[in-house]
Amino acid sequence: MQHKKRAWLGAVAAITAAFVGSTLVAGCGSDSKADNEVHNIIYLLGDGMGRTHITAARERFMGVKGHLNMEQLPYVGAVSTYAVEPNSDKPALVTDSASAATAWSSGVKTYNAALGVDAYGKSVPTLMEQAKAAGFATGNVSTAEITDATPAGMVSHALLRGCQGPTFSESTCLPKKSDGSYAAQPADKTLVTPIAEQIARNGTADVIFGGGLARFEPDDQKAMLDKGYQVLGSMGDPALEAQTADSQKVATAADLTATKSDKVIGLFNRGNMTVTQAKAMLPDSAPQKQEPTLAAMTTKAIDLLSNRKDSKGFLLQIEGALIDKRSHANDAAQTLDEMKAFDDAVAAAMDFAKKDKHTLVIVTADHECAGFNIIEKNTFTNAEAVGPPTNVDTTNPANNSNPPRDGKENVKDPVRSNGFVNGSGANDPRNFAPATFRTVDDKPEVKDGSAEASLWLTYLSGNHTGADVMIYAYGPGGDAFAASQDNTALYTKMHQALLP
Ligand SMILES: [Zn+2]
Repeated sequence: MQHKKRAWLGAVAAITAAFVGSTLVAGCGSDSKADNEVHNIIYLLGDGMGRTHITAARERFMGVKGHLNMEQLPYVGAVSTYAVEPNSDKPALVTDSASAATAWSSGVKTYNAALGVDAYGKSVPTLMEQAKAAGFATGNVSTAEITDATPAGMVSHALLRGCQGPTFSESTCLPKKSDGSYAAQPADKTLVTPIAEQIARNGTADVIFGGGLARFEPDDQKAMLDKGYQVLGSMGDPALEAQTADSQKVATAADLTATKSDKVIGLFNRGNMTVTQAKAMLPDSAPQKQEPTLAAMTTKAIDLLSNRKDSKGFLLQIEGALIDKRSHANDAAQTLDEMKAFDDAVAAAMDFAKKDKHTLVIVTADHECAGFNIIEKNTFTNAEAVGPPTNVDTTNPANNSNPPRDGKENVKDPVRSNGFVNGSGANDPRNFAPATFRTVDDKPEVKDGSAEASLWLTYLSGNHTGADVMIYAYGPGGDAFAASQDNTALYTKMHQALLP
């Protein structure tokens, strides 16, 4: 193992107390210098996970005196998330997932919808590419399509995030100019190459788990097999040029368990992976039941990457994507369950990091979504009184509940609102009444959706907000994140820790 220079400057005593008892400093004997070195980074983010998402999930699942797994990491800070306007450095105060992912992946501010390019459309290297080139193993895990903005940020370069594949079109891959016409084709053709095609050929991530199988074609599978990847499931019939729903086969949790390959792609849904709560309500025979949890994908990715013999260590990104998608839908019930699923993945990462002692774990978000808030019992927000916010769930298929809940279309959870004020349709202000949820501090007879439940939740909008997000860190180099910082600084600090 080659030693790196980055020293663990932080309070070893605090971490010892929080996580590992006396074993942290006792374990490494003669190689004490190496105790301070970062060999691995596990970067976990909850898409759309704002401060209130964390507070509400804590109260819901742990009680007011409890702590989520992420809240037990010893170093705590905040992250600003703004984007910039295209071809300028003028701030755009509310980011999307693509601009945010580019900030921590490449250390540059860029415009909303841009991936792996700066605000002027110039390709910039990503931390995962740099780690790969330096001899580290790499992994990319998400509950969204693996071509979606957040996972794509580390492993692709595109002028527009919609350029996911399998088809190319100007409207998905080329930005529009101010006069409404499409910008010229860039000289660097990668920037208009579908993201799935890039992922299948650039080898940037060794281990890839998530959704989005329908973005890939049979020739992508061939390209990956030629590069030595194991492909779980199938991207389609090699005899066909294009894939179809019938010719593709999603990977399953059993495939995930069985694989021993440290170069592997497993896509478990043709679209986004299934929302946790909707999955739980399906019969055992439903194919969605074969999808692994985010925690299971996290554990497996760590297992494969950490056992790779020929690498210096690993860089692994884990995204809990459906927090954002259910927040866009103003769906508090499913949002809270996605928070729990993400926090379970944090626990999986910490299980490894506590034993390994050379792993920097970071837990943060790309931006807040929907102005999620906890309001006083028996009150309403001003926004709701004046008029309801737009529910983007009605127009954005990516935010749909998959499968549809209760056999209906795009409906909210029936206990999202407190029943006696709930109406039908996104334009009915009564639909934006607070959602009420019991917490573990409530008496056992108190039900979700009742006025007696203590957690009253509401939303300001159906879109992202410009609020800072939380960041938690653990391990060598973690102290550097205990600050108020911009999201571009996350790149700089991770680079410093892994590639000094
Ligand atoms: Zn979003």
